[in-house]
Amino acid sequence: MQIKRLRLSGFKSFVDPVDLRIERGLTGIVGPNGCGKSNLLEALRWAMGENSARSMRGAGMEDVIFAGTAHRPSRDFAEVSILLDSAEGDETEVVRRIERGAGSAYRLDGRDVRAKDVSLLFADAATGAHSPALVSQGRIGAVIAAKPVERRALLEEAAGIAGLHVRRKDAEQK
Ligand code: ATP
Ligand code: MG
Repeated sequence: MQIKRLRLSGFKSFVDPVDLRIERGLTGIVGPNGCGKSNLLEALRWAMGENSARSMRGAGMEDVIFAGTAHRPSRDFAEVSILLDSAEGDETEVVRRIERGAGSAYRLDGRDVRAKDVSLLFADAATGAHSPALVSQGRIGAVIAAKPVERRALLEEAAGIAGLHVRRKDAEQK
């Protein structure tokens, strides 16, 4: 499974709708301080189900909505869409949207789904909000310095075994 496109609207500094095509292989984001590099990575993690406002550098989840500047009014919602491409060539679109006062909701190919459905989708794809494949500032050093046990956990995630653990826990609870 591969991420083909990231689409943002009203998310943090990305107030106007923008599409980013993501090519195969390793993707790096470069640009001057404050241009929105970290915001892009946060948008990916958020659409995959990140639920910690603090890890999104906010006090509450609504802080991801464009807050306005001296020249532009704030927005009432933020939306992030991830277009996925499977090995078989099928496309899946995951959308997360948050509205002020109304919380956030997910859609999978246009259907309303639960947060859990989205996290299972990404757990199986060895990606997800806490994927070792998303290397943020400072994380490279943490991976290198990790104790063997911690590094094994990272490798398990990268290998896609973590998805099985999530499903097993889910089954045990039923
Ligand atoms: P650095 O190189 O310093 O790490 P960066 O490219 O990672 O910078 P970000 O941290 O992604 O930059 O972006 C910071 C910018 O996003 C700041 O200008 C901040 O004001 C803006 N920003 C964050 N949240 C919002 C929001 N809710 N509404 C509007 N702007 C926001
Ligand atoms: Mg940054």
